[in-house]
Amino acid sequence: MESNLHTDVVVLGGGSAGIAAAIAVVRKGLRVVLIERNAYPGGKATAAEVGTVCGLHKFNKKENAEYLVRGFAREFAELLQIKSNTSPLYNADGLHYLPYDIEAFKNVSIDLLNKNNVTNYFNSVLKTVQTVNDKIVSVSVIAAGNPINIQVKAIIDCSGGSSISRAAGLPLIESEVYQAAAQIFTMTGIDETNEGRLGMIVMKAVRLAIDREELAGFYDRVYIVPGSLKNNTVSFKVGIPLVVTYAPGNIPELKTVARSFVENLSQFLISHVEVFKNAVVKSIAPDVGTRIGQRSTGKYILTEEDVLQCKKFDDAIANASWPIEEWGQNRRVSMRFIDVDDFYQIPARCLQSKNIDNLFFAGRNISATDAAIASARVMGICLQTGYAAGCLAAAAATDISMADAVAQIQTDQI
Ligand SMILES: Cc1cc2nc3c(=O)[nH]c(=O)nc-3n(C[C@H](O)[C@H](O)[C@H](O)COP(=O)(O)OP(=O)(O)OC[C@H]3O[C@@H](n4cnc5c(N)ncnc54)[C@H](O)[C@@H]3O)c2cc1C
Repeated sequence: MESNLHTDVVVLGGGSAGIAAAIAVVRKGLRVVLIERNAYPGGKATAAEVGTVCGLHKFNKKENAEYLVRGFAREFAELLQIKSNTSPLYNADGLHYLPYDIEAFKNVSIDLLNKNNVTNYFNSVLKTVQTVNDKIVSVSVIAAGNPINIQVKAIIDCSGGSSISRAAGLPLIESEVYQAAAQIFTMTGIDETNEGRLGMIVMKAVRLAIDREELAGFYDRVYIVPGSLKNNTVSFKVGIPLVVTYAPGNIPELKTVARSFVENLSQFLISHVEVFKNAVVKSIAPDVGTRIGQRSTGKYILTEEDVLQCKKFDDAIANASWPIEEWGQNRRVSMRFIDVDDFYQIPARCLQSKNIDNLFFAGRNISATDAAIASARVMGICLQTGYAAGCLAAAAATDISMADAVAQIQTDQI
């Protein structure tokens, strides 16, 4: 028997975007229900154990990271930095990123959600969406096994794959080729303390084994998660040699291929590389890291030109400087950079549904082309679009104009 609930705003998905969105709604004085499939918040940040937050800082060649983001994104990053006991790293391209501890990300998120009185439904999934006259009026959810119908004034899709747009039969922005997926796993018992040197040791051994045909060619798709080597423990990210299609069965198949990659690579390292001789696999991230899914169609579609030409918008709700980062089915990642010390903006229209008045999007399913989302998907930007979507949805639920809501976001957040 389905129970009924009324709230102001529903947020679907408790990743970095959904956490920010739900907190924004509460801070605007409204009730919110956050629905998350996993038993904990964080989305890819925790379930795929991504390990560094990108998109928080200015793009420049200065050694000390300078925040590009303000408002909630910065508040979250500062708490995460303290709880993870880390500081931002910097690479030769001018990119700054914050390594974090996975448990710290979960704890900071849970603390913030609880302190802000967000109603969380973990272990819960969206079933259907009911629409009347271009408005979503309710959603049906299975919350920890129990069917619930939730009546809403506004709704935010932070599902990473446009679950609400799909359930409502709305037009989607689909990729012709999705970016390659990755699996993150952690090994402990490693007898090396320098991360750069460890990377070179691993790569040299793997390349030699590939040349000798002891390992297949794709095993060179292995990277150390930056800043992860601590206490003889390190995390690796490996590129999965299987195309992401999202066809039925694709995710389980990616998972199976990823597990076999981790098993074979770790066994190889333990048996062939001196510094791994006492090592073991400590953990494998529960989620396969799929980078980009389907996006929802908004009032504006952010483009590659907007990103690369650092376009500014009157209705901007986020500042961003991360490059267009594209991972294909080969080892090298392609990075297309914006101008040093510049940034582009994301307009509020990328967060507003083209078809449904009270539907908003945030995170990696905002309205953007393949190339634009390859930049805008990083977490520093998801935190900003999440918070902004929360403010816009709260405005929609209380008949505040979008123009006033955007002006307030610009004052408080960017
Ligand atoms: C391998 C990999 C490496 C990356 N590296 C970095 C990096 O170094 N730095 C960086 O900043 N970013 C990185 N990213 C990108 C970044 O992690 C993600 O783009 C970002 O975390 C997305 O946040 P989100 O909130 O939009 O979506 P997600 O984190 O995907 O959250 C969506 C949430 O919605 C839930 N959900 C989905 N559908 C439903 C449903 N029907 N019902 C209930 N719940 C649902 C999911 O369980 C999930 O928790 C990486 C991504 C990958 C895959």
